[in-house]
Amino acid sequence: MSIYEKFGVRTIINVSGASTRVGGALMVPEIVQAMVEAAQHSVSMTELQAAASRAIAKATSAEAGYVTAGASAGLSLGTAAILAGLDLGKMERLPDTAGMKNEFIISREHRSGYDHAIRLAGAKLVEVGMNELLADAGVRRTEAWEYEAAITDKTAGIAFAVTAGGVPPIEDVVRVAHRHGLPVLVDAAGQLPPIGNLRRFIEAGADLVAFSGGKAIRGPQSSGILCGRREYIASAALQNLDMDEFFDIWEPPEEFIPKSSIAGIPRHGIGRGFKVSKEEVVGLLTGLELFAQGKYAPDYRQMRRHLEYIADGLSGLPVEPRVITPEEGPPVMHLVLDTKALGRSAFQVSQEMKKGNPGIFVQERLLRQHTLIVNPLNLNDARAQALTHRVREVLTSR
Ligand SMILES: *Cc1c(COP(=O)(O)O)cnc(C)c1O
Repeated sequence: MSIYEKFGVRTIINVSGASTRVGGALMVPEIVQAMVEAAQHSVSMTELQAAASRAIAKATSAEAGYVTAGASAGLSLGTAAILAGLDLGKMERLPDTAGMKNEFIISREHRSGYDHAIRLAGAKLVEVGMNELLADAGVRRTEAWEYEAAITDKTAGIAFAVTAGGVPPIEDVVRVAHRHGLPVLVDAAGQLPPIGNLRRFIEAGADLVAFSGGKAIRGPQSSGILCGRREYIASAALQNLDMDEFFDIWEPPEEFIPKSSIAGIPRHGIGRGFKVSKEEVVGLLTGLELFAQGKYAPDYRQMRRHLEYIADGLSGLPVEPRVITPEEGPPVMHLVLDTKALGRSAFQVSQEMKKGNPGIFVQERLLRQHTLIVNPLNLNDARAQALTHRVREVLTSR
């Protein structure tokens, strides 16, 4: 009996990718093993995060880094760090930012449900740009001067979400921000691979960058990375770690938390609820090492084989499988449904697949275009076979 059966839950085949609602990426055995070992010894969490900082700095070219409870928590901690710096009084007050510099400028095109993470720390978002393309009312997108025009004496920083084909380039936004002494906080949660993106945004001048640990890094689903300027990472740590210590005898590694720059220890900060366990820190660091060394690259070829196997298995049905292979990173497959021949919409097909045995959860972003997306991240031979069988069943049923 599997551990999930024991608790009365069916397992499913997740081909939607690293989506949180279906459990994210499956962890690779090396990471699971590392977490099992980590669970069997005690460590000082401050010393462990200081070591994580060194490892993340090396992988990302940032000054320092921190293991967060996901990219979303990283954005909240990063915002809190920018709002409070090393000011203990401000740390104590967050998320109340009355009277403080508390505005973050953000492009309308970068807004999403995830910017709740930024507002959570007490920041107010100030939007720039227009959605003219979506409104069918123009040809231009957000431009760098619009950020500059929105800067006031209340501006605390600029929030930037990396997107495919996004404009303006991050370098232009960094230039505007730094001209006014403002930091740039970057949401790069889903921007791995390519491996080069570990360094890309820091090298472009970003002050803080958040990545997910439970997506392409294949670490614990509730882990992430915040990397960037040393002082902000120290502030994030002070607002996240358990701070119930006596200042006089407290000895954090000075290059991680500069005790000499603060007058005392803050009480539990706004980030205390985003606790990360020692097992998660070790799991994330193990995944980061594997990912950064390119150890996942051979899996991309294996993923392609799984997708081609599924495509072959669906021949003769009212569906056109299209395998798409990027230059670097995992392939995906689009299943373009002939909804007329099927007599059902892509929404209905996807819903039927979820309900069956095994339940199959595809990526649904293109359902309106009659297309199911199959992300092979979590496939193995047995799952590819079971999926092919079940999809055939659904597409041939009446
Ligand atoms: C996944 C994602 C997040 C959240 O990341 P978690 O690690 O799940 O907290 C934030 N922003 C974007 C753009 C994402 O894709």
